[in-house]
Amino acid sequence: MEWETVIGLEVHAQLSTASKIFSGASTQFGAPPNAQACAVDIALPGVLPVANRGAVERAIRFGLAVNGMSAHNINRRSVFARKNYFYPDLPKGYQISQYELPVVLGGTINIVLRDGEKAVRLTRAHLEEDAGKSLHEDFHGMSGIDLNRAGTPLLEIVSEPDMRSAEEAVAYARALHSLVRWIDICDGNMQEGSFRCDANVSVRPKGAQALGTRREIKNLNSFRFLQQAIEFEARWQIETIQDGGTIVQATVLFDPDTGETRAMRTKEDAHDYRYFPDPDLPPLVVTEATIAEIRASMPELPEQRRRRYMSEFGLSAYDAALLTADRELGEHFEEVVRHSLKEGEPLAGADFKLCANWVINEVSAKLNEENLPAAKAGVGGDTLGHILRRLREGAINAKTAKDLFSEFWSEARESAYARRGGDPRRVDALIESRGLKQMSDEGALEAIVDQVLGANAKSVEEYRSGKQKAFNALIGQAMKATGGKGNPARISEILRRKLAS
Ligand code: ADP
Ligand code: MG
Repeated sequence: MEWETVIGLEVHAQLSTASKIFSGASTQFGAPPNAQACAVDIALPGVLPVANRGAVERAIRFGLAVNGMSAHNINRRSVFARKNYFYPDLPKGYQISQYELPVVLGGTINIVLRDGEKAVRLTRAHLEEDAGKSLHEDFHGMSGIDLNRAGTPLLEIVSEPDMRSAEEAVAYARALHSLVRWIDICDGNMQEGSFRCDANVSVRPKGAQALGTRREIKNLNSFRFLQQAIEFEARWQIETIQDGGTIVQATVLFDPDTGETRAMRTKEDAHDYRYFPDPDLPPLVVTEATIAEIRASMPELPEQRRRRYMSEFGLSAYDAALLTADRELGEHFEEVVRHSLKEGEPLAGADFKLCANWVINEVSAKLNEENLPAAKAGVGGDTLGHILRRLREGAINAKTAKDLFSEFWSEARESAYARRGGDPRRVDALIESRGLKQMSDEGALEAIVDQVLGANAKSVEEYRSGKQKAFNALIGQAMKATGGKGNPARISEILRRKLAS
């Protein structure tokens, strides 16, 4: 029997406000334990929560961004509710969250996979406060409680069970991660817990309509763990059913050391939490004026930018998605495009595909290697653009362009990325002083080709007997004879002509 995996994600994004969601205490990460927990956060009797406007605005930014800027999915009136449970790091005995009426209802995230696009529907996004942390080390057999995180604003983003593989779930989580940073509502720092995923996973026979029983994997804080955990969990569920067992709804933990998931507790249902509206907080009312003001402050969205790269620049959906995975990378790409133009050349005349390939293959590769954000790229978009301009003009060949780029990037690395390497003027100065100009002179290239043909009779023989590889070897020899500066297209033409005669 063939099986299908079904996944729905709950993501907790920590909103980047300076103070907490219901108190004025700081949200700064890394302070000594309990240094940032005020009377409201530690639940002293008689204190009252006051909602943080910045947190509400960030939730609205998110709502607009996942609904094509339309505010139909934003509840003009939503309600804070108490979710009651006992845990030492939850001093009030309840978490303030939203239940029946969340601030955002619905929306979509479009994910781009190699084999096409897919829309993942959002169920809701609601505001809530984070709990504190229990510390189990360094306390000589006791546990410590740090309430610095208590009251930190979270946006919980819940998807429909629309994903069908670990790859889709990761693509969705990445798209969401990129979006919350893009619209500046969350710093996305996964090590510090600013963006964490719970994955709900079930399996069913392929073609079945009804959903299987799900298990929920808690607190996955890296995309790799998300992928591994879902893959393991789905396999485990299929094997369990095939062995005659049944899946029991449960909350499970992923152990990165073993790569396995393990049941933590049977899952509670909503009614276990005794939700009710928090009488200390009035309903959250969002006015049209607030929405209009927030809409006016929104940047171009990744989705819009992706479509623009496709329609205006003629890029493939996949390339456009790679370039808009990160706001700064897209900006870098556009800077490269602008600087690749000759004086007075209109934007439409740019070689978008060439620029995209360089940013995707060269810049992104180096950023990944060095684990750097796009804003720290070792070579500026102006410098790379200028290198590509000289390449397009035929002043240098692709090899020289790559050498210059790598050399400049190394300069930045040497400064530990405190500054960028190279600049547009040095591109020209180096081409001049090192004599890097591409050799396109017909006569000179012909002489070199003749010499190479004379010295490589064996390759010529092989080529004539049908070995395509021998042709490349001859081009390589000729390029070498030009000190790497020959125009490969011209050399190839001359070679072909001479070999045919
Ligand atoms: P909670 O986990 O708090 O009980 P919900 O019941 O609303 O909340 O479900 C949370 C998540 O579980 C959603 O992302 C939803 O898409 C997903 N989900 C629900 N049922 C299934 C299922 N059978 N298989 C996979 N995911 C599911
Ligand atoms: Mg859940």
